[in-house]
Amino acid sequence: MSALGVAAAVRSGEVRAVDVVEEYLARIETRNGELNAFNLVMADEARAAAAAVDACVAAGDDPGPLAGVPVALKDNMCTQGIATTCSSKILEGWEPPYDATVVARLAAAGAVAVGKTNLDEFAMGSSTENSAFGPTRNPLDTDRVPGGSSGGSAAAVAADLAAISLGSDTGGSIRQPAAFCGVVGMKPTYGAVSRYGLIAFGSSLDQIGPFSTSVADSAAVLEVIGGHDPFDSTSIDAPAFDLRSVLGRGVDGMRIGILRELSGGIGSVDGISPDVQARAAAAAEALEAAGARVQEVSVPSATLGLSAYYLVAPAEASSNLSRFDGVRFGLRVDAPTTGEMMTATRTAGFGPEVKRRIMLGTYALSAGYYDAFYGKALKVRTLMLAEFASAYEQVDLLLTPTAPTTAFRLGERTADPMTMYVNDVCTIPSNLTGHPGISVPFGVGDDGMPVGIQLLGPALSEPTIYQAAAVLEASAPHPGGKEGR
Ligand code: GLN
Repeated sequence: MSALGVAAAVRSGEVRAVDVVEEYLARIETRNGELNAFNLVMADEARAAAAAVDACVAAGDDPGPLAGVPVALKDNMCTQGIATTCSSKILEGWEPPYDATVVARLAAAGAVAVGKTNLDEFAMGSSTENSAFGPTRNPLDTDRVPGGSSGGSAAAVAADLAAISLGSDTGGSIRQPAAFCGVVGMKPTYGAVSRYGLIAFGSSLDQIGPFSTSVADSAAVLEVIGGHDPFDSTSIDAPAFDLRSVLGRGVDGMRIGILRELSGGIGSVDGISPDVQARAAAAAEALEAAGARVQEVSVPSATLGLSAYYLVAPAEASSNLSRFDGVRFGLRVDAPTTGEMMTATRTAGFGPEVKRRIMLGTYALSAGYYDAFYGKALKVRTLMLAEFASAYEQVDLLLTPTAPTTAFRLGERTADPMTMYVNDVCTIPSNLTGHPGISVPFGVGDDGMPVGIQLLGPALSEPTIYQAAAVLEASAPHPGGKEGR
């Protein structure tokens, strides 16, 4: 059942939240051993929260728009008194003293948190293979990765171990795993959802957003978690979105651009596989058939996004991760002096990808290299903002594949970091510009695995994005069907 279906049934008293949660906990028990989607299952807390929702319904009070909906939380979001690990050994034993704003807002809306999901350590990766607790597997084919870094959250929803989940997206970590697992994933406008209590990776890029099995569920979750939060200084001072009311409006007359540089073919970055290109073309045709005016649009600097991101994101990460020093949080490896203790703790606590990012970032920021690397990346970022602004004078939304390929096999890309990094070529530009983007499943590739189509828009264009996403969803080929290819 959809999240909105669960909420309606619980709100009306037709179904009890405690029964819904038992059903989900039983499914987690059966499947999580194989999938490793959860780092921690919050069974007791979930049962108590569900009972409170039922009590609210019984008393005739409003239990909230997501009453009784089981939700999974990426394990880089703080939960008060409940271990939050970032899938890293360095946070061993640490329990946050407060809830992230998104966690508190979901609870206030009646949603029931069932657990914390696996991720690439500190959200650095595209396959969830960089977790200190072992990889998550794709529920549609367990030899394949679920994508990353929010792979646990994507897999949990795809396997119906949670009706909805939250992820974070710094360079594509919601949209790419959503594409790989065949679910809907949304990265909102930077500042539209509070980052308070999200453990920072790249603070100028990070955004929280939902995974769901439908566009309507995604809209419902974003309505709940969005809106101004005084605890996040980058939070946009505007009311929460009204999204569900626009879902039926269609795309008649909407201008949609196929982003040439990220769609394969002439003038595009390399590596977008032909079956994925074909799905993107079919998606554009479906929107056109529904009344949209489709044209090709060029944003030349979009091809520079990957290079700029792998300077900006590691630079910010190297600064953010300096707080994990063996003194204040989690793991401490004792040694004779403070300096040696810090070195020993960080050496033991961080995995190889995190160490690589810290070194890349420190190098990019170091005296003598700052202007050539970090400074130049910032200039690229400014150029991209200008070019996307002029693209959005021509069209309302842009369309690309979400990822260059479908889900790859475990171990296939772990040897060479570059082959992993290129996964994010289509998603990264909108993190650098702060713009919103959604991934909607649209058919399957030659291997039978789902393909995601990405819709991008200017800042705060979420209503337009959801309007078009609903049309894509309605016209998408049936995932299992032959017509999907
Ligand atoms: N895969 C990208 C990276 O490794 C993006 C990660 C993310 O969005 N958190 O940095």
